Amino acid sequence: MNFLALPKIELHCHLDGSLRAETIIDIAQKEEIQLPSFDKDELQKELIAPLECESLDEYLKRFALPNLVMQSKENLRRITFELFEDATRENVKYLEVRFAPLLHTLQGLGVEEVIQSVIEGMRDAESRYEIKGNIILSCMRTMSAESAFEVVEKGKKFLGNGVVAIDLCASEEESFCKKFVDPIALAKKYGYRVTIHAGETGIGKNVLEAVEMLGAERIGHGVFIKDCAEAYKIVKERQVVLEMCPTSNVQTKAVHNYSEHPIYKFHKDGIKVTFNTDNRTVSDTTMAKEIHLVNNEFNLSEEDYRQIYLNSVEASFADQETKEWCLAQY
Ligand SMILES: [Zn+2]
Repeated sequence: MNFLALPKIELHCHLDGSLRAETIIDIAQKEEIQLPSFDKDELQKELIAPLECESLDEYLKRFALPNLVMQSKENLRRITFELFEDATRENVKYLEVRFAPLLHTLQGLGVEEVIQSVIEGMRDAESRYEIKGNIILSCMRTMSAESAFEVVEKGKKFLGNGVVAIDLCASEEESFCKKFVDPIALAKKYGYRVTIHAGETGIGKNVLEAVEMLGAERIGHGVFIKDCAEAYKIVKERQVVLEMCPTSNVQTKAVHNYSEHPIYKFHKDGIKVTFNTDNRTVSDTTMAKEIHLVNNEFNLSEEDYRQIYLNSVEASFADQETKEWCLAQY
């Protein structure tokens, strides 16, 4: 299969993990921001998490640098546009981008301004290219429940107008769901769809709790349902969709290598899986690369790919018209 040419849907991509190194250098030069290096190759070494990270927390350290240049409306708009532009080059038809608005308020931007700027960047790309998108607002699990309420409240006015869902991300602790029951329930009440990062770092039970306590419709990663029978059962029975990101999982040591990744086994067992990059820059990857790597290990058939594409369209938080457009692209 020619993976580059195949139409693609991506549901799990972090904006701050997917910046072009050239853009970081360009903005830093204009705004006199200190970088460890202004040489693209050298800077890339700082941005890309090695395949041999110790843990998710080590992987997450790579996000400090991009966030330095993501503190103005203009930059957020540009960075979002460029991510969509990069996605079109490998035939991504629909992209759900996620970011934590509170990380971009360090130089005075309001949460609404941050969200508005990202929506504008996405609209710029939609009007120029054959791609459509939506935005997922991430709340940092490392922050308070109040901070999650703030994101839910301030993002509300953009619902149905670029914003579709809420997410919890960052470092994963056991039983993190409890703390966020109220803000996620409020988000649901407002009409946000719900996807939660869970089961990324060894704790399959978090997936069970994300589904039962938070009403997660999709799970970011979910690798460790493999070791938790109850979580596996609920994901399979309720057809909760897993947003899987193989390279990221190798980097964070969720799995030791690609052959150990459960994506294909899950798929064959009737669990709904999807392909995603997680972070194009930090994981030094693309959708085509992720599909290629999985194919290398498991020899995907065209039917496997088609099924995963259909899963992705169906599981997207897009409206019916957009879903039909995505189906027509295949
Ligand atoms: Zn993620």
